[in-house]
Amino acid sequence: MSLQNKVALVTGAASGIGEQCARKLANLGAAVVIADLNLENAQKVAASIVAEGGKAIAVAMDVTNEEAVNAGVERAVKELGGIDVLVSNAGIQIVAPIDEYAFSDWKKMLAIHLDGAFLTTKAAIRHMYDSKRGGSIVYMGSVHSHEASKLKSAYVTAKHGLLGLARVVAKEGGPRGVRANVVCPGFVRTPLVDKQIPEQAKALGISEEEVVKNVMLKETVDGEFTTVEDVANTVAFLAGFESAALTGQSVIVSHGWSMK
Ligand code: NAD
Repeated sequence: MSLQNKVALVTGAASGIGEQCARKLANLGAAVVIADLNLENAQKVAASIVAEGGKAIAVAMDVTNEEAVNAGVERAVKELGGIDVLVSNAGIQIVAPIDEYAFSDWKKMLAIHLDGAFLTTKAAIRHMYDSKRGGSIVYMGSVHSHEASKLKSAYVTAKHGLLGLARVVAKEGGPRGVRANVVCPGFVRTPLVDKQIPEQAKALGISEEEVVKNVMLKETVDGEFTTVEDVANTVAFLAGFESAALTGQSVIVSHGWSMK
């Protein structure tokens, strides 16, 4: 499966899963846009991809800001000649029991995960339509697109919401050659998860080891974390899939934690 001569924009690509997705797409021949709130880290990732012989640019983008999203997408189109793949990945986690969950945190979570997915989709899909080349949109969902966990009201709500968005985009985009799918990872050891381990230990009154063993990995078939490579390989598969046979779907990559 080749992504040669394609242009891929990945949000939240300065760290963790997004970074690995960008590296994988670049390895498969795509020119990649490393879009992130953290421009300094985005520039480092882009420079490292270029040093390895790939094509990459870094853009500062807050996915909750319509102007910033539109400007980043415009820059990608201008400098790289279009946009064929969008990986809407930027995300954060805030955990708290619902009776203590701050409304401001709830709004922040929904803005990054859902407004971000909407705004990047709206900006990118117009170019996919106009170019007549179509495209592929991959949303970074989660096992929490299908399952619930304590302390994660906003995250679970947002990740479930992405399934709805992907299905609508699949229906609207299908006749114009745009596919939309969701990748749903289990726990992956990234800064996002490393931050949660002590927070969950405190909130649940258990040790950090117990959080890993009895909360995060309890339902997997083998007690293993999913890796950034596992997720990036799945994203690349969906991004490069050749027909609309695979659209409006979610693919769960979780060591069997969830089987839907
Ligand atoms: P991470 O913290 O390693 O990386 C997230 C990146 O997003 C960072 O570079 C950060 O600067 C960027 N970001 C945050 N807010 C942003 C904004 N408003 N605009 C643009 N960029 C922003 O996290 P990760 O674990 O790689 O998570 C990436 C995605 O994968 C998230 O959507 C997350 O929900 C999802 N996910 C993660 C896991 C996991 O276990 N790590 C599991 C399932 C799904």
